[in-house]
Amino acid sequence: MYHLPTRVVFGSGALRENPALLKGFGKRALLVTGAKSAVSSGALRDCVAALDSHGISHLVFNGITENPELDSIIAGKDIMLDEGCDLVIGIGGGSPLDSAKAISLAAANGLSRKELYRTDLFSKAYPIVAIPTTTGTGSEVTQYAVLSDKETGRKAGWGHELAFPRLAFCDPGYTFSMSPEVTTNTGLDALSHLLEGLYSCKRDPLLYPLIHSGIKDIIRYLPIALAEPHNAGARWAMMRASLYGGITIAQAGTTLQHSIGYPLTSAFGTPHGLANAIVMRAVMELYYPYVQEELDSALASFGISRSAFFAWLDELLPPVSLHLDDAFIAKSVPEVMASRNMASNPMSVTPNQVRDIYLAIRS
Ligand code: NAP
Ligand code: ZN
Repeated sequence: MYHLPTRVVFGSGALRENPALLKGFGKRALLVTGAKSAVSSGALRDCVAALDSHGISHLVFNGITENPELDSIIAGKDIMLDEGCDLVIGIGGGSPLDSAKAISLAAANGLSRKELYRTDLFSKAYPIVAIPTTTGTGSEVTQYAVLSDKETGRKAGWGHELAFPRLAFCDPGYTFSMSPEVTTNTGLDALSHLLEGLYSCKRDPLLYPLIHSGIKDIIRYLPIALAEPHNAGARWAMMRASLYGGITIAQAGTTLQHSIGYPLTSAFGTPHGLANAIVMRAVMELYYPYVQEELDSALASFGISRSAFFAWLDELLPPVSLHLDDAFIAKSVPEVMASRNMASNPMSVTPNQVRDIYLAIRS
């Protein structure tokens, strides 16, 4: 099964050349962004021009930080309702895109801060449009939002059919301005999503052509995008791989590979994709006996061995020193075990196995 309710326009000029697709979604848009990248990428300028050309008024809410906080969602919801907006457009990386989804759901259903994870209360949504400026999360085609609660120090996600964007404009040109760090971290996040499409107990061979093509492109083009940030072919391939990763996790879900990284982000501020990458080898080795056929045939199709893959990964990973003390591990293992992603593991993972992975990566 393969369910993709988002209309995806992909390529250079995706938004500039198709502004009419925004017609009919609303009369006043809330543009949800981070501090700077919507401007530096050029995506905000194109979006405003497209809205203006069709008489859709807009308001910018640029209060989204990395690992978006529940408070920011409530602030966005209040602006949305006070200003009479009826359409939400997320512009940026996964943080603004996920926030746009959460703001839409919170505003449409009148949710309070403590109800932001209550998917049972989600019965309607304002239309959501997504304009990605990173090549990692694939949030433009998923039903997920990942939010952080500074009161509990916990990062966790939800998924709901109403959170699928109605429309996504994927223009690789918006990603030229990414720093090398953001390029690496987000590229490795996309790689995690594609690998998880092979690991997940909900894996579906229907997705394998996308998964194989995405992994192959990341192995080849991520180093090129780093060496030549304005290489259009490399940025294009990375954006396509990220999109395929999003389509993959929308169907197959994410796994331990993701849930074990969330506490690293909450406790140490490790960027999401880097947190995934740090545990990628350990998770692959844990899963390997259960997904040997899927992994071996994927890697064979790119002509790369598992050890060559690990060498490629080691070359990209920056040196990371994480002081995972016993208190961190004692707090995090139950959080990981309780996370919704664990339902998609290829086998039953024990608390000791999670602990062992943390012990293996601690410095
Ligand atoms: P992000 O948190 O949205 O952004 C990271 C940094 O990159 C920010 O400083 C941002 O700047 C900057 N940036 C973004 N685009 C840029 C550009 N074109 N040029 C220059 N700088 C740019 O990063 P992300 O990795 O894309 O998203 C991570 C979040 O998504 C995490 O919370 C993760 O858990 C979540 N996620 C969601 C899904 C899903 O399916 N919904 C899947 C995986 C991960 P600004 O602050 O100025 O924007
Ligand atoms: Zn991810």
